[in-house]
Amino acid sequence: MITAVEVTRSYRAAAGVVTALDGVSVEIEPRTLTVLHGPSGSGKTTLINILGALDRPTSGAVLVDGADITALSEAERDDLRRLRMGFVFQSVALIAAMSALENVEFALRIAGADRGGRERRARECLAMVGLRSRMNHRPGELSGGEQQRVAIARGFAHRPQVLFADEPTAELDTHTGMQVVGILRELTGEQEVTVVMSSHDPAIVDLADRRVSLRDGRIAAAEPGVRGGSP
Ligand code: ADP
Ligand code: MG
Repeated sequence: MITAVEVTRSYRAAAGVVTALDGVSVEIEPRTLTVLHGPSGSGKTTLINILGALDRPTSGAVLVDGADITALSEAERDDLRRLRMGFVFQSVALIAAMSALENVEFALRIAGADRGGRERRARECLAMVGLRSRMNHRPGELSGGEQQRVAIARGFAHRPQVLFADEPTAELDTHTGMQVVGILRELTGEQEVTVVMSSHDPAIVDLADRRVSLRDGRIAAAEPGVRGGSP
């Protein structure tokens, strides 16, 4: 379970101080798909980066299973990210010279997975995202939606507790985007992973278990999505 408590993040920019998040408190329910929703500049990326231990708040706390991760050393935060978190970004950033299978295996190696099990797990994850017949293709030989599915397989192969996806559908058409989110949602059941993603597309937001709306760095509304279940 991840909880943000009164998280504020400000940046010192040339024009003055910018407050990207202003007293945000949110609880992420385990094994659900939560979508952070809001217009450009509302603080979605900043919140994902802080929940994912890529960035620290200016004030406030981030609790992972009750422990405040903002108090950890850089080395401890690196371990937390590498072992317990997974990331999928808007720009897919697969390694162009490697096949889909090699990209996922490489991520498993970085996460410290046993050499013996890496190929089997990579194949299993690619099959789960519907790429059984594309494993030996390089990114340049795959469509945008297929590349994003490889990135998802790469993001959860090491069995993270939480998978963060910052606008993973931004560069896809709505239909492909909805398929990608469908896969993320299935993972919450099949892989028991918690998914936190951001989007500004209402069709995508409707697929969430829970949506958290951000406006100008503040929570505008947090409500259950179509599957309900959250208070
Ligand atoms: P979103 O992902 O919802 O588009 P962001 O979290 O990227 O929003 O940004 C929130 C606000 O913080 C914006 O006003 C943005 O300009 C500002 N911001 C983000 N990163 C920086 C930075 N490194 N320096 C200064 N301002 C920033
Ligand atoms: Mg963003």
